[in-house]
Amino acid sequence: MPPSGPLSSGPAKMCQSCHVRPVSTYRTAAQVGPGGAAEGAAGLTTSAPQAAQAVTLPTTLDEAVAALAAMPAAVPVAGGTDLMAAVNSGQLRPAALVGLGKISEIRGWQYQDGHALLGAGLTHARMGRPDFAALIPALAAAARAAGPPQIRNAGTLGGNIASASPTGDALPVLAALEATLIIAGPGGARREIPVSHLLAGMDMLRAGELIGYVRVPLLHAPQVFLKATGRTGPGRAMASVAVVLDPARRGIRCAVGAIAPMPLRPLDAEHWVAQLIDWDNNRAIVPEALNAFGEYVAAACIPDPAPAEDGSVPQHPPAVLHLRRTVAALARRALGRALS
Ligand SMILES: Cc1cc2nc3c(=O)[nH]c(=O)nc-3n(C[C@H](O)[C@H](O)[C@H](O)COP(=O)(O)OP(=O)(O)OC[C@H]3O[C@@H](n4cnc5c(N)ncnc54)[C@H](O)[C@@H]3O)c2cc1C
Repeated sequence: MPPSGPLSSGPAKMCQSCHVRPVSTYRTAAQVGPGGAAEGAAGLTTSAPQAAQAVTLPTTLDEAVAALAAMPAAVPVAGGTDLMAAVNSGQLRPAALVGLGKISEIRGWQYQDGHALLGAGLTHARMGRPDFAALIPALAAAARAAGPPQIRNAGTLGGNIASASPTGDALPVLAALEATLIIAGPGGARREIPVSHLLAGMDMLRAGELIGYVRVPLLHAPQVFLKATGRTGPGRAMASVAVVLDPARRGIRCAVGAIAPMPLRPLDAEHWVAQLIDWDNNRAIVPEALNAFGEYVAAACIPDPAPAEDGSVPQHPPAVLHLRRTVAALARRALGRALS
């Protein structure tokens, strides 16, 4: 029998120290003023009304950073799937654009000290291919679930992170993997920060900086990403769960996406369930523990309402209860698949 009552084992620890809406690298027309691009901007110029006045297409990361320094009003654009939606809806009128699509150094990946160094320009379509799935299965699964094919062909990893939408499918995977970002700044500067710090707003992109690479540990163990949408076919996540096994540390890492402004890590549930896995015997676990893990994760991410003053315990509204059941089912299934 699994230990009973995981839900009553004390307050859950989660990485939700900051509820600030995370990063937006957009600068609106109001912020940039009417002047548009600074003089001397290199590259192609367009004159489309309501769109950027200048489009620069650098071929290296440092050139892109230099272009942003030369045109402080410019906005970087990768696949344009998020940015152009904002332009088309009138929310954004960038005075100038720095296109990242011609920077070949950030469109692939390389191995580095037991890690994969992923270029920010990797598209969802590329990450969904089998060779990438063999490397980082959960990120490949998230990439395959990220919208319809035309979005996956254009949308990039860096854009997904910089947009920091709660429904960004790559984000819970990167949180569970404890990935870090290599950020390129002026003068060839590079700094490295955890993805979770950027998503929590603890460490923002500074003016003129670009996400260059994402460093992901290669764990050589099963990983699962599952997503629930409110409809059939491609759609934004109502809830998503990433579970990765870390056999070297006999650990489980889990992150829940889409239900909060940033991915949530139910750390107590991770530690609790890792102790119930027979790591030396084919990673066996009893089914009751899988069920309890799902409930534990869901209760950690969507806690019970606080008792009222008269001592009665209020109920969540039906929609919240449904979301909590969904998270529980996703977490149970994700761990079950990772261990099977
Ligand atoms: C119809 C539709 C469906 C979608 N469905 C999903 C879905 O199911 N799941 C999902 O996760 N997403 C979905 N998206 C969102 C979108 O496709 C992703 O977020 C995509 O990964 C964004 O990448 P991009 O290259 O197109 O970003 P862009 O639109 O080019 O840029 C987005 C933002 O990131 C900034 N930026 C881009 N690259 C960098 C960089 N290297 N450094 C710093 N800042 C940068 C830009 O300045 C901009 O502010 C959907 C979008 C649409 C339009």
